Amino acid sequence: MENTKNISSIKTVNPFNNEVVKQFEVMSKDQVNTIISKADEAFKNWRKTSFAQRSAIIHKVAEIMRSRKEELGKLATLEMGKLLRESIAEVELSADIFDYYASKAESLLADKKLETPIGKAFISYEPIGVILSVQPWNFPFYQITRSAAPNLMAGNTMVLKHASNVPQCAQVMEDIIREAGAPDGVYSNLFIPGKDIESYVNNPKIKAVTLTGSEPAGASIAAAAGAKVKKSTLELGGSDPFVVLDDADLDDAVQTAVYGRMWNAGQVCVSPKRVIVPESKYDEFLQKVKDIFSKLKVGDPMDPKTDVAPLSSEKAAADVAVQIDKAKAQGAHILLGGHRVDRPGAFVEPTLITDITPDMDAYYEEIFGPVFMLYKYKTLEEAIELANATEFGLGGTVFATDKEKAVEVARQIETGMVYINHVTGIAPELPFGGTKGSGYGREQSEAGIYEFVNEKLIRVTDSKNPY
Ligand code: NAP
Repeated sequence: MENTKNISSIKTVNPFNNEVVKQFEVMSKDQVNTIISKADEAFKNWRKTSFAQRSAIIHKVAEIMRSRKEELGKLATLEMGKLLRESIAEVELSADIFDYYASKAESLLADKKLETPIGKAFISYEPIGVILSVQPWNFPFYQITRSAAPNLMAGNTMVLKHASNVPQCAQVMEDIIREAGAPDGVYSNLFIPGKDIESYVNNPKIKAVTLTGSEPAGASIAAAAGAKVKKSTLELGGSDPFVVLDDADLDDAVQTAVYGRMWNAGQVCVSPKRVIVPESKYDEFLQKVKDIFSKLKVGDPMDPKTDVAPLSSEKAAADVAVQIDKAKAQGAHILLGGHRVDRPGAFVEPTLITDITPDMDAYYEEIFGPVFMLYKYKTLEEAIELANATEFGLGGTVFATDKEKAVEVARQIETGMVYINHVTGIAPELPFGGTKGSGYGREQSEAGIYEFVNEKLIRVTDSKNPY
C-alpha cells in the first residue's frame, strides 16, 4: 500500500494492486503562469497558420495514436484500470475524432454568407486564444481529444489540467502532439491538483474554460469563469435511464443493459444507471440479469477474459461501497454483490439493486461503479416520470421493437442524447452533451467546433446608404 506522507497528489497508482508506479512533481504558480503565457504567445502564430498546415499536424496526431494504440492502451489500463480492449478502442476512437476535425474544420469554419437587402454580410469564425481544458480520468485519451481536436483545428491553443491519477496519459498526449509538429506552447499540460485550478481561470490570458467531471468541480470552474465573463462548457455527471418498452426483445435488452453498465467498471457518464422495465416483464428481466451476472468475471484488466475491471482508485471503490451500504440501510434490496471484492486492488462486486424508492439517495444520485439499479413501471407515463426524476440530463436509452413509438418516448426524456436500442454511443460526427445538472455546451460533431470561436459579423455597405 502507498505511503501517503509527503508524496505528490499527481501520480500513477495501479488500481489493479494499488501500487504507486510513478509520481510527478506538482508545478509551482510561476511554472503554471509561464506555460499559460507561452500558450498565449504561441496563439499569435498558430491562429495565422492555414487550415492545411493545422490539418497535416492533427492528422499526424491520429496516425501516431493508431500506430501506438497497444502501448497507449496499456498506459490507460495501468493508470485507471479499465479493460485493455476498452483502452485500445478508446485510442482508436480518439484518433478518429482527430481525423474528423482535421478533415472538416476548414469547411465548418468557412465564412458564412448572410442574406440582407443592403450590401453584403457574413460571419467570420475566428479563434479566441488559450482554452483551459479540465478533464477526468475515466477516458484518459478520449476526454482530452474531444476539446483538443476541434480547438487546435480552429486556431486556439490549449492548456490541459488532466485528472491527477492519469499523468502519464497526459504527458504522452503532449509528446504526441508535439511530435506531430505542433509548435511549442500550442498544447501543454498543467500538473496541479484540481482544487488549485480555479485561481488560474482569472489569468487574463485564459479566454475560456471547458470542464468534464463532477458537478461540484463544474460549478466552481463555471462560477470563476462567469465572474470574469469568460465562456465555459460543462460536461458533468449523469444517471441515464434505460427504458424498456413492453415489445422489446428482452434478451437483447438485458445483454445491452448489463454490458453497458459494466463497461469501464460502471465509470461512464452515459452508462445505463437506471434500468426501467414494465411490471409484466420484470421477473423475466430480473432472472436474465441474474443469469448474466453469474457469468461475469472480475479480475485483471490486462486479461482478455476479464469482464469487470477494478475501479479507478481505492477512493473510488470505497465511495461506491458507501453508496451501496447507504442504499441497503435505506431499505433497497441488494440482490447480488454489494461488497468490495476480497482481493487487493480497487475492486467492487458487480451489484444488482432493486426496490429503490424516492425517499432513498440512490434514486437521485449517480453511482460511478458496477451497480445495476432495476426499476419497474405500470404505465408508460410512470416510466417517463421515473426516467426524468433526477437532476441529471445527460443520455439515455429506449429499447423497443416499434421504433416509432420508441422515438416518441425518446422525445419525452429530458436529456441531451437518447439512443434507441443501444446504450448512449459515441461517434465523431454526433454531438455529445447534456442538459439540466449534466451541464451545457456540446462536444464532437459540427457543434463542437463552434463553442470557442468568435462568430464575428462583418457587414460591407456603401457609406452613403448603410441602412
Ligand atoms: P472530478 O473530481 O470533478 O474531476 C474531474 C477533473 O476536475 C479532474 O481533472 C480534477 O482534478 C478536476 N477538479 C476536481 N476538483 C476541482 C475543482 N474544485 N475545480 C476545478 N477542477 C477540479 O470528477 P471525477 O469524480 O473524478 O470524474 C467523474 C465525474 O465526471 C462523474 O460525475 C462523471 O459522470 C463525469 N463525467 C462526465 C462526462 C461527460 O461527458 N458528461 C464524461 C466523463 C465523466 P483532480 O484529479 O486533480 O482532482
